[in-house]
Amino acid sequence: MADTTSLKYTTFDEIDAIHATLRQSFRAGKLKSIAARKVQILQLAYLIQDNYDRFKEAFAADLGRPTLETAFLELDSTVSDCKIAYDRVEKWAQTEKAPFSFNFFAMRPVIRKEPKGVVLSISPFNYPVWLALGPMIGAIAAGNCFVLKPSELSPAVSGLIAELVPKYLDPDVVRVVLGAVPETTRLLELPWAHILYTGSGRVAKLVCAAAAKTLTPVSTELGGKSPVVIDPKCDLKTAAKRIMWGKCVNVGQTCVAPDYILVPQDAQDELVQALKAAHDEFYPSGPSAAGVFGRIVNHTHFRRLKGLLDRTAGEIAFGGETNESDKYISPTVVKNVKGDDSLMSEELFGPILPIVPVKNIDEAIAFINDHDNPLALYVFSQDAAFKAKVFDNTLSGSAVANDTLVHCAVDGLPFGGIGPSGSGYHTRKYTFDMFTHLRSSLDSPSWVDSIFGSRFPPYTAKKESY
Ligand code: NAD
Repeated sequence: MADTTSLKYTTFDEIDAIHATLRQSFRAGKLKSIAARKVQILQLAYLIQDNYDRFKEAFAADLGRPTLETAFLELDSTVSDCKIAYDRVEKWAQTEKAPFSFNFFAMRPVIRKEPKGVVLSISPFNYPVWLALGPMIGAIAAGNCFVLKPSELSPAVSGLIAELVPKYLDPDVVRVVLGAVPETTRLLELPWAHILYTGSGRVAKLVCAAAAKTLTPVSTELGGKSPVVIDPKCDLKTAAKRIMWGKCVNVGQTCVAPDYILVPQDAQDELVQALKAAHDEFYPSGPSAAGVFGRIVNHTHFRRLKGLLDRTAGEIAFGGETNESDKYISPTVVKNVKGDDSLMSEELFGPILPIVPVKNIDEAIAFINDHDNPLALYVFSQDAAFKAKVFDNTLSGSAVANDTLVHCAVDGLPFGGIGPSGSGYHTRKYTFDMFTHLRSSLDSPSWVDSIFGSRFPPYTAKKESY
């Protein structure tokens, strides 16, 4: 069973030495050339491919993940992200010309894509490969030196990454720091060119406060309660299947998991039946068998979720089975949940799905707007006006109709929150952009002064008359 104490944490002296080494490497221009960046990106893909089975075992130890889920959610998608970066980094890093301007074209204004320097990424436990190595790909593609602080709550995966990174990648440019709060706090005392923080809003406030002391820019990829709005006239069978999948993948420990459902009161029971049918189709022998459905990451989170479930005033429609020794909570749908219920008090991050009945679409929109801007907002409807009404009158990190979660996998779509659900955008090209400084540049020839000479003092009356 996963045990955080089995990880050998990086010492403070080692952290300081890593920071100093990477700063030297950055100054020496170790990843200046695109060719050097591509070598590291390719090595990262090999790191995953060569150790595929070890990663699957590590995921099973940390999160009880079914192996197929691990493959498509993390390993294959990260290799695919390596390939995208490898194939496109030349294009991404190309100097861009400014739009033509009659006044300035002679100065040849351009935007140089510069690496920011030595950057830090602090990642969470729930997608411990994709959210740890995805930022690594983007940071390297942009030419930065990179320090990863993976989560101590997924020790098997984090430990494997720490073991393999120095074997596959150049330790002068990429390092892994293992640790919990003290080690992360030490990292945050150091100046960085950029910090990407992925995790909870509570910790993000600490990270931003620490980073402010060194004026380090921070991007935050956070979570929150992502709602689902149901149009009762939608294809309920498909909707239920996609919602249950989004909730059950990684046992709901997904930042964009559907957190709760808003549905008109008189359609609630039909929706529950459809969700139950999807559940039974997914788990014909029940979800408790090993390897079928994951487990809650640790006992603290198990007790938190069990406590929320014990205190709910809603009715458990199905599920509700728990087993503390195994950190197991079955997929659980709770109906007739009110806005002030325990299940509505925080991001659930577990396989519990409350249904909040509403009068109509206007009440659903008002409910969403009375809460923090979510990371994702899902609408199930075949009616264009219904979808437009919800999307046009709310704000969220992403707005998805008739599916859940898949938008994160779509190449070309930025992934990020707004307000309490985060700031900044990542995945693929957007991660490259996050770690890139857009450096304005021009080269002004002497003859330009024959046209622009009037900018120089003395500001004579003759010049003013121009
Ligand atoms: P967390 O905030 O507890 O931990 C994330 C990281 O912060 C870990 O590496 C941890 O070691 C570090 N950390 C924890 N406490 C710290 C402290 N006091 N000082 C400094 N560092 C500290 O988050 P988690 O439980 O691992 O992940 C769950 C949260 O992450 C959820 O809220 C989820 O929605 C969010 N999340 C967001 C995204 C996204 O891309 N938007 C992706 C995954 C998860």
